[in-house]
Amino acid sequence: MRRDPKSTTVRRTPWPEGAERALGTPLQPSVVYTAADPDALDRIYDDGAPGFTYAREAHPNAEVLAAKIDRLEGAEGGIVLGSGMAAATAVMMGLLKAGDHVIGADQLYGRSLRMLAEDLPRLGIATTLADACDASAIEAAIRSETRLILIEIVSNPTLRVADLERIAALCRERDILLAVDNTFTTPRAIRPFEHGADLVIHSVTKLLAGHSDATLGYVAARDPELRERLRVTAITLGLTASPFDCWLAERGLFTFELRYDRAEENAAALAAHLAGLEGVQVLYPGRSDHPQHDRAAALLGTRFGNMVTFQIEGERDAANALVRAAGQIGFAPTLGDVSTTLSHPATSSHRALTPEARAALGITEGTFRVSVGVEPVETLCAEFEAAIRAAQA
Ligand SMILES: *Cc1c(COP(=O)(O)O)cnc(C)c1O
Repeated sequence: MRRDPKSTTVRRTPWPEGAERALGTPLQPSVVYTAADPDALDRIYDDGAPGFTYAREAHPNAEVLAAKIDRLEGAEGGIVLGSGMAAATAVMMGLLKAGDHVIGADQLYGRSLRMLAEDLPRLGIATTLADACDASAIEAAIRSETRLILIEIVSNPTLRVADLERIAALCRERDILLAVDNTFTTPRAIRPFEHGADLVIHSVTKLLAGHSDATLGYVAARDPELRERLRVTAITLGLTASPFDCWLAERGLFTFELRYDRAEENAAALAAHLAGLEGVQVLYPGRSDHPQHDRAAALLGTRFGNMVTFQIEGERDAANALVRAAGQIGFAPTLGDVSTTLSHPATSSHRALTPEARAALGITEGTFRVSVGVEPVETLCAEFEAAIRAAQA
């Protein structure tokens, strides 16, 4: 048909030739992909031929990112999802059924705790929380219906270290799936698959992406059959990641190693500085006064991470004064940003607990958690020292 030169209709056109040779990863926000013909769809759906159909099912930016995190974790076929909690959801909804029993560490990330305490029981999946630092407490919670154990290696906010080796041995003996949320520790410190994990979960939002501008998760399974169940569950439940977030996170990943190493070095130096101040107690797994320092060293080598928790005396007035005096340190309940952030567990991650329950975990009004960033460490030491002095005044 002849095109009317005055037409204002806009049609779809292919990409210019050569665009596929860009050095940077292209951002592909398209929801749908065209196929050459129906046979081509058969090849994608039935034979696993490469190709995309619909972004909720798969898209190139998620695949590129997942392949990079797979390499970091020593995993295969991991998937990137819309958040860390989406990854946990894929595991629970994809691999469990009513009547199963799940054990979770009692110091898991707050929303993971909520999923275990409220959501799974509503669906007929029984749950028990137990101390992952003590493998015998985990063992005592095991029942014949126990199907999965979810742990984090370093807990929030008291930075306790799980007895990974003994818990992994229990899981092997009893044919229970071990899921490890490796968000805090990252594959720079430990690769849980090398220690017996069956599933690895990440909040990519945190250290992997590193810039607090993308909300994403990742999950990988050792067993290819479980991988397929996770993939199908994620598609059905709509746990899909946004292409733009994947693009940002992939960009962040190129500096992951540099950011991690600098932040960790800063964390050790800040922990040492704070421990030298009057009236300050410091928790850092790299310090010999940490209750599980030996276990941390055995599991993590010298990679003790970028998280430091400290405690001062006093109540809310002191906590408010400290935060107000903390200058450029962002007061925000997150972690893993390039900049240092400060959080107050009693009013954020652990606000749902009673003061007594918080005290049992070692959390008071004077407990602060620091996610150390990449700034010059002298600046951080000076700013924290001034903030602590203000709180103590
Ligand atoms: C933040 C976090 C999550 C949840 O991740 P989102 O991306 O916020 O959904 C899970 N586990 C840990 C340890 C986290 O820090």
